[in-house]
Amino acid sequence: MVDFIDVIIPIPLKKLFTYTVTPAEAEFLKPGMRVAVPFGKSKIYTGLVFSVHKNEPAAYEAKDIQQILDDTPIVNAQQLKFWQWIASYYMCTLGDVMRAALPNAFILESETVVTKGKVAIIDDSVLKDDEFLVYEALQHQSTLKIQDISNILGKKNVLHVIKGLIEKEAVLVEEEVYEKYKPKLVRYVKLQTSYTSEKAFHELMEELSRAPKQRDVVLTLFSISAKTKKPVKVTDLVTESGASSSVVKALIDKGVLEEYHIQTDRVEYSGEDTEASKHLNEHQETALTEINSSFQSHAVTLLHGVTSSGKTEVYVKLIEAVLQQGRQVLYLLPEIALTTQLITRLQNYFGEQVAVFHSKYSAHERVEVWNQVLTNSAKAQIVLGARSSIFLPFNHLGLIVVDEEHEQSFKQFDPAPRYHARDAAVVLAHLHQAKTLLGSATPSLESYYNARQNKYGFVELLYRYNNVLMPDIELVDIKDKQKKKRMKGHFSDRLIEEMTETLAEGHQIILFQNRRGFSPIVECKTCGHAPECPNCDVSLTYHQYRNQLRCHYCGYQAAMIQDCLACGGQDLDSKGFGTEQIEEEVKILFPDYKVARMDLDTTRGKYGYEKIITALEQQEIDILVGTQMLTKGLDFRNVKLVGIMNADNMLNFPDFRAHERSFQLMLQVAGRAGRTAERGKVLIQTYNPHHNILQQVSTNNYIDMFKEQMNDRYNFKYPPIYKQIKITLKHKDFNRVETASIWFAKSLRQVFGDYVLGPEAPPVARIRNQFHKNILVKIPKKHSLAKTKEAIIKINNSFESVKDFRSVRVILNVDNF
Ligand code: ADP
Ligand code: ZN
Repeated sequence: MVDFIDVIIPIPLKKLFTYTVTPAEAEFLKPGMRVAVPFGKSKIYTGLVFSVHKNEPAAYEAKDIQQILDDTPIVNAQQLKFWQWIASYYMCTLGDVMRAALPNAFILESETVVTKGKVAIIDDSVLKDDEFLVYEALQHQSTLKIQDISNILGKKNVLHVIKGLIEKEAVLVEEEVYEKYKPKLVRYVKLQTSYTSEKAFHELMEELSRAPKQRDVVLTLFSISAKTKKPVKVTDLVTESGASSSVVKALIDKGVLEEYHIQTDRVEYSGEDTEASKHLNEHQETALTEINSSFQSHAVTLLHGVTSSGKTEVYVKLIEAVLQQGRQVLYLLPEIALTTQLITRLQNYFGEQVAVFHSKYSAHERVEVWNQVLTNSAKAQIVLGARSSIFLPFNHLGLIVVDEEHEQSFKQFDPAPRYHARDAAVVLAHLHQAKTLLGSATPSLESYYNARQNKYGFVELLYRYNNVLMPDIELVDIKDKQKKKRMKGHFSDRLIEEMTETLAEGHQIILFQNRRGFSPIVECKTCGHAPECPNCDVSLTYHQYRNQLRCHYCGYQAAMIQDCLACGGQDLDSKGFGTEQIEEEVKILFPDYKVARMDLDTTRGKYGYEKIITALEQQEIDILVGTQMLTKGLDFRNVKLVGIMNADNMLNFPDFRAHERSFQLMLQVAGRAGRTAERGKVLIQTYNPHHNILQQVSTNNYIDMFKEQMNDRYNFKYPPIYKQIKITLKHKDFNRVETASIWFAKSLRQVFGDYVLGPEAPPVARIRNQFHKNILVKIPKKHSLAKTKEAIIKINNSFESVKDFRSVRVILNVDNF
């Protein structure tokens, strides 16, 4: 009898592919091991064994595998179950899931490009003969395709050779040229060496007797370094001496102090002693007890804890308990919230047990974390990671914490699988019989609704740690201010007043400008023409800094125009305002203070994001202007004022979640103000101060927001009352996508009737030269989700069999956001 294996191949095939293996191979192979398999005419892929069996495929003659690549499975049985759930729930293939789940370095294939490794010189003697030949070839030629390697070695089976080279760090896989994880630069100061002798020091003290503040700083520096015998951070010096950072700067300028930077690597734990976790206050203690008892009856529990209530410390206690039982913990966070601040905090408590998993990680680091989790290594008992870390090979999971659970970045838009990491985490935890804790100061309507339905447990933490007051939120009516001529650019007199006062007290300011809703576009005052992207149906955005026009959808860029492309008029107006313009205005209003900007453009560079956060922490920035990047769980001690430049463009965004999102965004940014002793202040500028959402934000009234929004969702049949599947069709020919989408919608209507909306062109109807059409299927609770999906798949299959439609791309997005 012949033996067969079913293999997942990392391409979107609807079915598994079957190959023949020898009896010995069948004996050896287990689900979750990799094999190199031929596919199509000449391609070789890395496949993953799904099952070993004796059923010959009826439709085709199974080919032999080329090679076995693993000695033991790299994907475990629970993962395979999880992958199946993802594929079925999010309507994609197992191949799609495999590609998203495995680090790229695990998926070698014929198109893979191999380059030289990072380690400059490899000890030849550790390389096998074949490996050496490839390694040597790479010294002469910067890249090699798998086919080239086949030619060099004179054989077809080469994936195992490359795998060996990757493990020895002698080669890299091309797509994996990631930026290395960014080290954090910390600012330190020391006394200039010329003052270190006792005599010189005394002379310096004499000299500084006329500048008592500076003298204090030097004395404090002296006493800190005598006490700790370690380098002194500027922040520590400022806190201990009570002097402002400008005094420190004056001393540096004078040449008394010398400043220097030390890289603190945030991946490698330095090995210093861990500290004991904090003693919880009574509210945290109560919350912890309630969570534990909620877990008795509800595997999923929502913790609604206001900003700065100390949720993280509660998570820490839960994590400690789970580790005690010898089980693993996954701590999920939105990518951007994975900051040094939090990583360091957890490493202080848990030391080496914390592993971090991040899309900015290099191939090697990701493989390393994968293997640590797979072997249940002591080094990866807690994984702190972004969305994709749900795919790690956990085998002993006890708890998943989903922090900032309301964040939309947990949902992957493109490519498939279009999964929501929060929802998938709940399923993953279930497979492990583990608990899930969702945490947020502004829960998603979904989770809060689930809690109210008693599907999830529910715990509240409504007091800020140390009883710090919630920030005082004031709405500023800018329509009125404009009428009374009390605006300077985009700044109301109230905002300028508060800013002046805050700066005078030595505190910092954050200004929030949501660029998503409204970006600066250029319009001709004569004919009204606005330059548009040649590839997309959208106006180009003006970037003052580079004097460019850019498309935010496809990246197209052009030099700023001097006169109107349509009428030649020279009177051009830039409408709307983005972070850049706010930054410019602040510089003019407050020329003596340091302003910085945090948005996609300023954080792109290698250390961009990190540098800005560090600079703000170190109080080198007085005023930070930024987009929603600012909202994510950052803890800045000295920020006292938050200004929201314009609430209306968030509220008016054409999306059924716009109000919910605006509420979350505003309260999250507001939460950055006054996190220590002094009460923070938040000013929200708006044309519409009576808007319910703004009233709810200013009174921090989540419940009212929830009830009102749920009412809308109910009336308009939106999630979480109804489920939604969005079907997007794309093609470069407008007519074809038009006909195709009408056909698709009509077929859907025959099954679902009025529950189908569209086809409709999205607000930006053409992106990268592809025309888009959307169809929405709404699914009431009483309909079976599985049956609905089956019907959609059936329709999609008939659609694909229509010759004219074959080139139209169809994208299925379950629980689209
Ligand atoms: P949240 O995540 O709810 O916004 P954090 O966990 O960041 O709040 O806590 C806010 C601040 O209060 C942090 O600086 C934290 O170190 C401090 N804090 C919270 N709980 C305690 C505690 N029990 N003891 C000492 N400090 C605490
Ligand atoms: Zn474009």
